[in-house]
Amino acid sequence: MSAPRFVIQKHAARHLHYDFRLEVAGVYKSWAIPKGPSVNPRDRRLAVAVEDHALSWGDFEGVIAEGSYGAGTVIVWDAGTYQNLTEAEGEVIPMEEALARGRAVFRLEGAKLRGSYALRRIKPAEGQWLLTKLPDEEAQDNPDFLAQHPESVLSRLTIEQMASRKAR
Ligand code: MN
Repeated sequence: MSAPRFVIQKHAARHLHYDFRLEVAGVYKSWAIPKGPSVNPRDRRLAVAVEDHALSWGDFEGVIAEGSYGAGTVIVWDAGTYQNLTEAEGEVIPMEEALARGRAVFRLEGAKLRGSYALRRIKPAEGQWLLTKLPDEEAQDNPDFLAQHPESVLSRLTIEQMASRKAR
């Protein structure tokens, strides 16, 4: 069985955000992270649950026309696989169950983000979760990580360069 995928799309819509997506049971479970992910375990990043996306969406980058859902510019900021590490009573539980319980721990193997992270639901009614880096050898005290790695892992374009291309 191949490892499930994750993707993070940087999305310059009305407000810039990062769409964090984990492959779970044939779809991408998705969260919008206004400030983007952090590599520092001291940071807690708000992640707002949004609708599931098709796995085919994970390769999309380009310009979504005004008036369409998600209008704005998208790049694939990071992509890779993850390993579910969520435990209950000493055993790893399925990712669906972890998310239903409101706490998931996983190890990312991306081009940019690596190591273990946790997603924890804080306000179920608002769909609010927190994404945090867990302390490990991949953790960094680097507040400039996002700015230092602005480009797409597919096209190598920044979101500004992608936006300057003609809308589809
Ligand atoms: Mn988005």
